[in-house]
Amino acid sequence: MAVTHAFVARLTTDELRAIVEGPRPLAILVPVGAIEPHGPHLPLDTDLVISRAASARAARLLSARGLVALVAPDVPYGVTDFAAGFAGAVSVPAAAVCAYLRAVVDAWLATGAAHVCLVNNHLEPAHDTAVRAAIAGLPPKRASVASPLTRRWARTLSDEFKRGACHAGEYETSIVQAADADSVRESIRHTLPEVDVSLSDAIARGVERFADMGLARSYAGSPARATPAHGEEMLTRLAAMIVGEVTEAMG
Ligand SMILES: [Zn+2]
Repeated sequence: MAVTHAFVARLTTDELRAIVEGPRPLAILVPVGAIEPHGPHLPLDTDLVISRAASARAARLLSARGLVALVAPDVPYGVTDFAAGFAGAVSVPAAAVCAYLRAVVDAWLATGAAHVCLVNNHLEPAHDTAVRAAIAGLPPKRASVASPLTRRWARTLSDEFKRGACHAGEYETSIVQAADADSVRESIRHTLPEVDVSLSDAIARGVERFADMGLARSYAGSPARATPAHGEEMLTRLAAMIVGEVTEAMG
């Protein structure tokens, strides 16, 4: 049977069983993010938009490499304590994120997936740690995490990202322009001055609130410089990251 849907939850049970019983291993990509303020110009679910778009591109690439790769419904809630005080910072405890993600991974494996990859683009360290802890103890062949919060993958992204000004600036805004253009408040974006703050430097100094880092409007970097073409390029690199993590883990 031809796979006509990239989204596993759009299949029927019979369609999924046919894939599981078929010759090609099934890899499930689970987009992970947070409900978190992303400046005055991007929606609260920006990190999910990024994870979903990168996962969809990676699924196509992986499916051309002998796997059946399908995107699962995302896990929207994460640890977002840095944004405390801004409307829309809906944070859940790290232990709850970890336990819930582990249950989702175990359930996809139990239903016949050969591999599950958690695709995370909410880069608050406590959240990323919880995502990685969710697959602790599982054989690498069975589960992986794809997240740009590692030197290996961060170095493949933009200069703004590498400087750590990677919250709702040029990098994230460009990706949302490429993936979900209608959700960018363009008339506001054009007016936003650059906020030259490195989140990674602030975090290293122990500062843990956007408000205390100088992100008065919950963004850093330069949203005004964003372009859809830059977003497409960044999505291509995020998709390559996912393909790299999954193919290396599965051997
Ligand atoms: Zn973000």
